[in-house]
Amino acid sequence: MPDKKAETTPAPTPADPAPAALNRRDTLRLLGAAGVLGVAGPLARAQGTTPAAPAAAPAQAGNLNGNGFYRQKIGDLTVTVVSDGTAALAALLPTWGANPDRQADFAATLAEYSVPATNTVNHFNPVVVDTGKNRVLIDTGRGGEAGQLLNNLRRAGIDPASIDTVFITHGHGDHIGGLTQGGKATFDRARHVIGRAEFTFWTSQAQPNAAVQANLIGLKDRFTLLDPGGEIVPGLTSVATPGHTAGHQSVLAVSGDQKVMVFGDAAGHFLLSLRHPGAYVSFDTDGAQAAATRAQVFAQAVAEKWWVTAYHFPFPALGHLRKLPEGYEYEPTVWQWS
Ligand SMILES: [Zn+2]
Repeated sequence: MPDKKAETTPAPTPADPAPAALNRRDTLRLLGAAGVLGVAGPLARAQGTTPAAPAAAPAQAGNLNGNGFYRQKIGDLTVTVVSDGTAALAALLPTWGANPDRQADFAATLAEYSVPATNTVNHFNPVVVDTGKNRVLIDTGRGGEAGQLLNNLRRAGIDPASIDTVFITHGHGDHIGGLTQGGKATFDRARHVIGRAEFTFWTSQAQPNAAVQANLIGLKDRFTLLDPGGEIVPGLTSVATPGHTAGHQSVLAVSGDQKVMVFGDAAGHFLLSLRHPGAYVSFDTDGAQAAATRAQVFAQAVAEKWWVTAYHFPFPALGHLRKLPEGYEYEPTVWQWS
């Protein structure tokens, strides 16, 4: 197999240094496209072609993988978890493990894993899946003052106007709040997609809450309503995951033999919902159904070796599940800087 590097980049000699553009392009290729924005500055400086410019420093820091976003290739997909930030959480129990008769077990598991039970934070993790043809945002954060989605999209180098599809897993405010800003659609060019039953449930309330009023009813003419198993864009399919809400739908994205499940809130808590079969979350509309859905999709995730990402798992909220004698464990991805 020919050496591509040798083909495209003449070997530099002391008398005739290789053109900087070729060197740079070659190095960027080695680092992967995701590293382009982050490495362009320091690389140019290392080559001595561009004087160090203080103004360049913030841009480099802003684009470093992990700074508000986490990007990873899965097959041909580029999956970017884009944090909407965190919110203070005074006590993890009973919100994230709500079964009243199992509080002592939940507390013991938190202690076993050294996960703080009090004075902690809740994470919010929208996801962008780029298929090469479509750029799909799944859930939109809280919006308003607290929402960090737009800031972190920019840090990731993702222009909000380049999002062509927005998919909403369910109608809770921390997932739909970023759909509008000041009464206008945030992702103005995007097709908006949501489960048919979910949309109907929220928009037919006698007194819809403010988030539903602004973000679902206010944008009702934009939404495409999808039944479970429907295609969102080629490669991305909705999956019925009822229980957290009755019409909750997750997203399974496929590239070759690689699959990534974007759970939304179907996965619950990264430790309690996994380690304790039957555990439910206080925000689950139907706790027993939510737990049954978890049992089914967790088993499938292990059997089919899916990548998984879940909205309230700790950032970067991307990894795999593994089976234990009882229940499951979350294995975070091995961090990649570029
Ligand atoms: Zn949520």
